[in-house]
Amino acid sequence: MSRPNVGIFGLTGCAGDQLVILNCEDRFLHIIAALNIRDFAMASSDNDSACDLDLAIVEGAVLSRRDEEQLERIRARSRILVAIGTCAVWGGIAAMDGDTDRSQLVRDIYGECGEQFDTTPARALHEIVGVDLNISGCPIEEEEFLSGISNLLNGDLPIAPTTPVCAECKMREYNCLLTERVDMCLGPLTLGGCNARCPGLSIGCVGCRGPVDDANLESVTALFMENGFGREDIARKLRTFAGLRVVAHTLSEDES
Ligand code: SF4
Ligand code: SF4
Repeated sequence: MSRPNVGIFGLTGCAGDQLVILNCEDRFLHIIAALNIRDFAMASSDNDSACDLDLAIVEGAVLSRRDEEQLERIRARSRILVAIGTCAVWGGIAAMDGDTDRSQLVRDIYGECGEQFDTTPARALHEIVGVDLNISGCPIEEEEFLSGISNLLNGDLPIAPTTPVCAECKMREYNCLLTERVDMCLGPLTLGGCNARCPGLSIGCVGCRGPVDDANLESVTALFMENGFGREDIARKLRTFAGLRVVAHTLSEDES
């Protein structure tokens, strides 16, 4: 079987997901052996920025017209497009204040010279182009990435996690921070796949993998309030990684 042509790209973000790929270390050599990596600016200075791609892997959110144009070019040359990381899947931290007036935000930070910057509200990839597979996480989990790519290479669609962080936390028999320590842990609302990394270190989940389907937002926010947290604090925490921003917005509106 010929090796598929692959491109790995970063839009606006911290490049942490691309770093996870490079940090696969010995297994990265197997990836290179299985893939024909043609365009990966973070790892190589010898890139083909025009060839057709079987697989495009894209990290980062769309925060400018330049990002948007780059993403459209990537989509046009790729058979399969995979969004990696919470910025690409949900808009990420940059989208936490997506409802704020952008030009005011730019003026507040950069003053009048901010007007010249090419900047747009943060958007996830699926808001601009069709995405074939989302792999969430801030950053992505190495195992989930490797198994996802292996599945795609075998012609299968990877099976994504569907249960919340709480399920993985219970499986590992960690003490519950929400009920036992009265922390504002977002585990019940957040997509699992990280093996409850933060509760395992006695730190409440901050929702970095984005929302799980069927999250019971009403019941969890009611529990937070029973535990003494205010609506504004809950709203602020929920919108940190943007995936739960809509709920956060509703809570803020209820407050006003
Ligand atoms: S500590 Fe957090 S993730 Fe674990 S069971 Fe409690 S609420 Fe869920
Ligand atoms: S526990 Fe929550 S914040 Fe921590 S890695 Fe998992 S999803 Fe992210």
